[in-house]
Amino acid sequence: MQATLGRTGLTVNKDGFGALPVQRANMGDAVRILQKALDGGLDYFDTARAYTDSEEKIGAAISARRGEFILATKTTAANAEGFWKDLETSLCNMKTDHIDIYQFHNPEKYPRPGDGSGLYEAMLKAREQGKIRFIGITNHRLNTAREAVESGLYDTLQFPLSYLSDEQDQALVPLCAEKNVGFIAMKALSGGLITDVAAARSFLAAFPPVVPIWGIQRESELDALFAAMRQPAALTGEQRLRIEKDRQELSGNFCRACGYCLPCPAGIVINTCARMSLLLRRAPPGPFLSEQWQKEMAKIPNCIHCNHCKDHCPYGLDTPALLARNYEDYQKVLAK
Ligand code: SF4
Ligand code: SF4
Repeated sequence: MQATLGRTGLTVNKDGFGALPVQRANMGDAVRILQKALDGGLDYFDTARAYTDSEEKIGAAISARRGEFILATKTTAANAEGFWKDLETSLCNMKTDHIDIYQFHNPEKYPRPGDGSGLYEAMLKAREQGKIRFIGITNHRLNTAREAVESGLYDTLQFPLSYLSDEQDQALVPLCAEKNVGFIAMKALSGGLITDVAAARSFLAAFPPVVPIWGIQRESELDALFAAMRQPAALTGEQRLRIEKDRQELSGNFCRACGYCLPCPAGIVINTCARMSLLLRRAPPGPFLSEQWQKEMAKIPNCIHCNHCKDHCPYGLDTPALLARNYEDYQKVLAK
């Protein structure tokens, strides 16, 4: 199944490769996974300057086959100088002379001409120079995403979309279609809380213009995606029930693992620790009860209540309180 990313006219496999988790794989495994993904028909690869060595792994694995895939990356630069530094580094890391979709990475406000940052002007210049082809933006904030789409300044939007998304989030899809903006969906598994890839994929198949990117760290995850791709896209009755159950269990405010509250001065891995209760019950609990995670969870009482996390959470979560609840629950589970 294929999808066209709005006004870019780029038609890609509807299942894209999200290259955030591949930074946690060693170079050899990452190269094998990326090559296998391309061999298996995935032709949209999405990474970010901020994902440590993910770009280098893409460069090492698939740059020799540059004509076979669409490449997207992101910059968190706050000014033109940072923009050019990031762009040149990304091009060099990925051994390419152009990036197909260059995205502003989750800015609080969408960059626009004349806003004083020089960022949008730099995008235009980079496009003129042929270093990028299309201008994209990623965001976790509904208002910023909506405003960026409505501005007409962006060719693509990347936004979290899964069967746990509410109606307002889902309404971005028709808005993008109306404005001819490509929609790239991140967090289709809601940061690991959705464990049924086939159901997640079937749900998103009902949004024909949306290209979900599946974060892949292990070959087994890629194989699971390939297996889901071989199944019919329509939701089965069983999948509908599963989605309904998950929605009931995960309704309300829960940590989406976006990590925008980090870094924490107390060293707490908030984007996992604030979801620990859910992870223990929704995924095989073994790995989260390891010595390593016990040490990580033990940092929660060191919270200095600086509120950095609360102030930066795009979902408006009371993160310190959420961490405290997860800590308490974790202790109970350990004591059993
Ligand atoms: S409030 Fe606590 S958990 Fe949040 S950033 Fe500050 S120290 Fe870390
Ligand atoms: S607490 Fe908020 S900002 Fe931090 S990872 Fe969770 S959803 Fe993201």
